[in-house]
Amino acid sequence: LASRDFHPDDTVIEIKGVKIGGPNLVVMGGPCAVESPEQIDEIARLVKAAGGQVLRGGAFKPRTGPYSFQGIGVEGLTMMAEAGKKHGLLTITEVMTPEYVDVCAEYADILQVGTRNMQNFDLLRRLGTIKTPVLLKRGFSATYDEFLNAAEYILAGGNPNVMLCERGIRTFETYTRNTLDLAAIPVLQSLSHLPVISDPSHGTGRRELVEPMAKASVAAGANGLIVEMHTDPDNSATGDGVQSLFPDQFAALLKDLEVIARVV
Ligand code: PEP
Ligand code: MN
Repeated sequence: LASRDFHPDDTVIEIKGVKIGGPNLVVMGGPCAVESPEQIDEIARLVKAAGGQVLRGGAFKPRTGPYSFQGIGVEGLTMMAEAGKKHGLLTITEVMTPEYVDVCAEYADILQVGTRNMQNFDLLRRLGTIKTPVLLKRGFSATYDEFLNAAEYILAGGNPNVMLCERGIRTFETYTRNTLDLAAIPVLQSLSHLPVISDPSHGTGRRELVEPMAKASVAAGANGLIVEMHTDPDNSATGDGVQSLFPDQFAALLKDLEVIARVV
């Protein structure tokens, strides 16, 4: 079902008038984690003003260590839903377990499956039973074939609204947090009709690399970007501050992308 062989045309997922896939470039921006109503409201305002279409923010965070901030849970979902509604943005948030699929789908327009859950087959099967669009992140050690098979689980369950997200893979390099696999973009688009979104934030782990890799992703044909942005990334951000753009950098990036997207 994910294969281009049986579905030659690009899949375009339309959510409340926003088209994801095909020739459209969609930009999702926001903090790694929802922290407070004021924080998410202000960031939503900035995402909208910059020209973004989707507000991102985690309420349930998959942290490597059990003592790190784990997200504020359902409260965060309501804060983000409110901010999205107020500023006219769609919302995307990560769902980590099958039990939370319904509550996350109640508040968010798009559900994100994190890199660590790409092969959480129970979660994928559960997401196949609803129609809410899913952004499936590539496992950091997953091949294209494993990635597309994970998407297949959701599609096979009856949910056709799946986007693939390249978010960097693990290599021997340690300077960057992950290695953003740019070739994944055209490869996945040739193998599959599903929209391909690039995440240059987790893909590099370094703020100064987000802009060039975002531009390179769009030049490589990405259907969209998901980018971390925070109003105070170096002091108050609860996670991923070092890779989060300042609001003015986010706005400048979106302005430049208009030109690249037109050429591609
Ligand atoms: C995130 O988007 O904040 C996140 C945790 O992403 P990933 O699953 O790609 O690490
Ligand atoms: Mn993050």
